[in-house]
Amino acid sequence: MNYDSPNDIKMVLSRLNIGLKKRWGQNFMISRGAREKIVDLLAVRQDEKIWEIGPGLGALTELLLDRSTCITVFEIDAGLIRFLLEEFGDREESGFYLVRGDVVKTWKAEWTRSGMPARVTGNLPYASSSLILAGFVEEGFFPEKMVFTVQKELAQRMTAKPGEDNYSSFSVFCQWAFNCVVRSDLKPGSFFPVPQVTSSIIELQSCSREEKPLDEKFFLKLVRASFAMRRKTLRNNLFSSPLLKKLKKSFIHDCLVRMGLKETVRAEELCIDDFIHLADLLSGSA
Ligand code: SAM
Repeated sequence: MNYDSPNDIKMVLSRLNIGLKKRWGQNFMISRGAREKIVDLLAVRQDEKIWEIGPGLGALTELLLDRSTCITVFEIDAGLIRFLLEEFGDREESGFYLVRGDVVKTWKAEWTRSGMPARVTGNLPYASSSLILAGFVEEGFFPEKMVFTVQKELAQRMTAKPGEDNYSSFSVFCQWAFNCVVRSDLKPGSFFPVPQVTSSIIELQSCSREEKPLDEKFFLKLVRASFAMRRKTLRNNLFSSPLLKKLKKSFIHDCLVRMGLKETVRAEELCIDDFIHLADLLSGSA
């Protein structure tokens, strides 16, 4: 099929009796240039294992299959799954493997079953993008490189620096695990149906930081707790956090003082290394 043609897409959907579901963010990428850019950025090597999240009708999948012999796709929509199986088959020997269902629930089992992919890509469904990415970080799922299309605002949050409006716990999560770089913006017209938002292509490269928290799970929970209420100071967020309920307020206060932080400081002023240091002090191991 011609993936650049809204008419072709409409015809296939109508032949298969597939109605588009807004909740699954089904905006197909009709710009071949954008798809090629994603695949180029992914820099696939022939025998590497690739994952694609939300293949839809296979616009990106087709290009990926030209470059790799080992692709696993995750799709939730039963109608699209039928089409993908018709189009690309469902045999591991052919290098195409399809995982049915909600990727938020299926990716971990697939990781256990088939190991860490070298590359992950996808024109991500808007509603689940942050859930998917936060889940990856929380579980320590760090493929060498990932390239996604996400809503522009989400890309801004992923790349925001301390002190910027968009800086949040999600920024710390993403930048702790990956070097995150916005490669380009995509106009709404790059998709069909045309969404109401601008999108960005974002590249995430796994990074090994010099500073590592002693307890990674605690560090991530602390980051969430620190940003729990944006209008509150860091100190007050920590005082009211269930995560730290066993700690005396005076101990939390002392840790902040040891770091040279003022009582009025807010989480959005701390950089990643500050959070790592704070987590180590609070977990009592520094
Ligand atoms: N890759 C195709 C393209 O660019 O033309 C389609 C991208 S579309 C933005 C998002 C795709 O993700 C849809 O195929 C949708 O059905 C699928 N999807 C949405 N939520 C999902 C979920 N939770 N798990 C797996 N797939 C999902």
